[in-house]
Amino acid sequence: MAVIIDGKELAKKIRENLKIECEKLKKEEIVPKLAVIMVGDNPASKVYVKNKSKACKEIGIEYEEYLLSKETKQKELINLIKKLNEDKTVNGILLQSPLPSHLDINKAFKEIDYRKDVDGFTPVSTGKLTIGEDTFISCTPLGVIKMFEEYNIDLAGKSVVILGRSNIVGKPLIHCCLNKNATVTVCHSKTKDLKEYTKRADILIVAIGKSKFVTEDMVKEGAVVIDVGINRGKDGKLTGDVDFENVEKKASYITPVPGGVGPMTIAMLMNNVIKATKEQNEI
Ligand code: NAP
Repeated sequence: MAVIIDGKELAKKIRENLKIECEKLKKEEIVPKLAVIMVGDNPASKVYVKNKSKACKEIGIEYEEYLLSKETKQKELINLIKKLNEDKTVNGILLQSPLPSHLDINKAFKEIDYRKDVDGFTPVSTGKLTIGEDTFISCTPLGVIKMFEEYNIDLAGKSVVILGRSNIVGKPLIHCCLNKNATVTVCHSKTKDLKEYTKRADILIVAIGKSKFVTEDMVKEGAVVIDVGINRGKDGKLTGDVDFENVEKKASYITPVPGGVGPMTIAMLMNNVIKATKEQNEI
């Protein structure tokens, strides 16, 4: 039976520490502030944004929300980003995805001041990550790395296989794991003989968005299995991309869904807002 990596508990511990850091900053009259921009009324985005505001409140981070109509023009969005870049009271800027289809999200990300890029999506942040420099790292991959650190899972020399190559999860994870001296393989929907790769993984990270896709026969005995996937079934229940019940019997460590990677993502956003605030104040 595998050790269950408790993301909920770890995220709670991280949030408690961040709250203490936030109180220390306030004693210096520094109040961290996150500005969130949402365009349109995507229901999932609304939930994510609400959870972010709740987490900020709990830690003591000021939270400002900009809700733009779905007809917003690219120029209007860019102008708001520029305004927030210049606002010295704002430490972190987050542009909630997805955007309505007439807007170019990558062009918008390029405008965010990299010093306030708490989501780690600007070209400067992603570039710095590829050359192993300290930077803002996308929150979900950063959460996965924190889990490895907390559970003393050493990546050096290990074969890490990542399923999924999205800009927010799979791609940053490649560099996060490479920077920890792993040998990294990334697979995607065009990969042939997927099982040949997954079976060789000492550490398997799955982020594809397909419920219970990874089955026991695809996993090496004793592998560490990290399930990033979040899939909501017709019954409203959440499942991951891994067939947890069966894979758990074979893995050495495994993350559950819910209660695994999910809670770490928001904790890492809070972590990045505090990091941005300290750096901007040269602390
Ligand atoms: P995404 O942008 O849809 O990307 C999915 C990736 O999976 C793509 O690279 C795709 O390949 C690959 N893929 C799809 N089917 C595959 C298959 N049969 N075999 C191998 N690869 C396959 O997804 P995402 O945004 O990275 O999210 C992935 C999952 O993680 C979703 O369930 C999402 O809800 C969840 N998620 C969770 C958190 C969290 O906080 N826990 C955060 C973000 C995302 P191609 O590139 O070839 O299309």
